[in-house]
Amino acid sequence: MNLKRRSQALKALYQEFRADTADQMSGAVCTIGCSDCCTNVGEVYATTLEGILIFDHLKRKNPRQKQQLLRRIADNKTVKEQHRLARCAFLNENGSCAVYPVRPFSCRRLYSVRRCGPSGPTLHRQAWEAGERIRRRIHLLDDCGYGGHLSYILTLLLDPWFRHDYLAGKFEPAAIEEFAGSHGIVINRWVEPRENLNQGRGFSSPSEGMPERS
Ligand code: SF4
Ligand code: SF4
Repeated sequence: MNLKRRSQALKALYQEFRADTADQMSGAVCTIGCSDCCTNVGEVYATTLEGILIFDHLKRKNPRQKQQLLRRIADNKTVKEQHRLARCAFLNENGSCAVYPVRPFSCRRLYSVRRCGPSGPTLHRQAWEAGERIRRRIHLLDDCGYGGHLSYILTLLLDPWFRHDYLAGKFEPAAIEEFAGSHGIVINRWVEPRENLNQGRGFSSPSEGMPERS
């Protein structure tokens, strides 16, 4: 399946999740500007296919916005590499998301029926389970790709060499082994049916001891 069809299939999975969880999500208290879930988080999980949608979205920003966002991605990566909680690179000052139309599934599946406190969101079990099913299908769809923290995945995609090979459908995990192993990147085609996506298989993943959103 070529990239265009994969991207369409990814968007269809997003829509399927939204339709399947409409009843539960109708009780969400989430609003623009309520952004605890994007502030001081451990991992904002994304696959390479989702990263490509974001990458293409960034290309359409004006040069100043694009430069700012690239700086924020680099800063987020630096903070994460120090094993510290980090504000998402795409969280704007007003609490909105700079890439909202193309935000990854880990953000789309997150909601809460009570305003989040220290214990995090309160959501329905059915919605969580539906999210797990969609998450697995996203990995299967992106079977030449990888998954991990959003700014790490975008760092890979900002490398012209990696992006060229990924877009050509090449599967060469050995070529990114050093970066992947030190940044908790997982190999999508090997990740299923594992239950915990963040224990990488094929790369040696560090344990950062931070909350995850996958
Ligand atoms: S998940 Fe929690 S912090 Fe995030 S928008 Fe919803 S209520 Fe606010
Ligand atoms: S991508 Fe957007 S919705 Fe997701 S954590 Fe970042 S700011 Fe929040």
